[in-house]
Amino acid sequence: MVAIPAEKLIDFVTDVFAHAGSSQAEARRIAGYLVTANLTGHDSHGVIRVTSYLRWLAQGNLKPDQSVDVLVDTPSLAVVDGRFGFGQTVGPQAVAIGIGKCKENGLAAVALRNAGHIGRIGDWAEMAAVEGLISIHFVNAAGSVLVAPFGGVERKFSTAPYCVGIPRPGQAPIVLDFATSVVAEGKVMVASRGGKPVPKGALVAADGHLSEDPAELYGPYSPDGPRDHSKGTGAIRAFGEHKGSGLALICELLGGALTGNGATRTGRPMTNGMLAIYIDPARVDPAHFFDGEVARYVADVKSSRTVAGVDSVLIPGEPEQRTRAERGKTGVPLPDETWAAIAAAARTVGITEERIRQVTA
Ligand code: NAD
Repeated sequence: MVAIPAEKLIDFVTDVFAHAGSSQAEARRIAGYLVTANLTGHDSHGVIRVTSYLRWLAQGNLKPDQSVDVLVDTPSLAVVDGRFGFGQTVGPQAVAIGIGKCKENGLAAVALRNAGHIGRIGDWAEMAAVEGLISIHFVNAAGSVLVAPFGGVERKFSTAPYCVGIPRPGQAPIVLDFATSVVAEGKVMVASRGGKPVPKGALVAADGHLSEDPAELYGPYSPDGPRDHSKGTGAIRAFGEHKGSGLALICELLGGALTGNGATRTGRPMTNGMLAIYIDPARVDPAHFFDGEVARYVADVKSSRTVAGVDSVLIPGEPEQRTRAERGKTGVPLPDETWAAIAAAARTVGITEERIRQVTA
């Protein structure tokens, strides 16, 4: 295991994407969002993604320094095409459009299609929350067919995340942000690279037996080689039985079909689609009941007596804030296998041995 200070890791990942063809500004933005995912504890959406982003770039499925195309533009609605740009570039462009329209109208919706991987969806809820806005996000990852529906064995859904952000004056926002699969695919990837194992029964093998072995998803793999989910025969299971499976379907239909990204299917590149709805609580509630009621109710929920082994009831977003504070001090922990895979990918775009050594020195 190595522990790398966040700033040092951001500088290194910036160098990697600048060498791979992104402008310095985009490279730093990608690095910033990836390392933030690590800092918030979502290693599945952190720097481990460097390898797949470079592979997609080399295949032409991801394009540097894109700007969204606005296809539909009304006072409260936009449909935007991410043109296969990095999600860390076209994602915030789409969210900024939603924020602008919501501030004008009190309510806005933005449908984003053909975005490169937009990473941790909580980033976009946090971006809206900083502006005092509530946001709701339905997302799909078309082309990334990974998840078996309730009662099924075959892959039909992507990990289709769902996210809601609620701002709180003077406090961190509430951010509910999760994949609609038992685990996000990246968590299977982390497990395959020597990180935290996936929970019991998170995967289902082609013959229907439940499993925790990443090889069900990736097929046989070598320690620092690529992980290609098209090589495996099993699936990740949808979370929450019929209810979670239903929410996954809704994310596919709203984040995929309605945005024009397309619901998930095989034989096409991975792109994220996101339907985001933005609400300005100040416009819904001019009497300012909401903020006080959120504070009162959250305190009441947190006051619950706890089950054995649990210190306190947490509100969505709290675990991420805690991990952020901790890792801000201790650095980003990366299993040796993860770091070896990132270093191997960095070499392919011309990063020197000396530069790689500096990071862990
Ligand atoms: P997860 O299972 O870790 O759940 C995270 C959510 O649960 C957060 O809202 C967190 O605050 C809350 N939470 C965790 N522990 C809690 C506790 N003890 N009490 C109360 N709340 C708690 O998340 P996941 O499903 O593994 O998803 C990880 C990340 O992957 C998310 O950021 C998601 O957006 C991202 N993702 C992205 C894509 C994509 O295509 N871009 C696809 C899937 C997932």
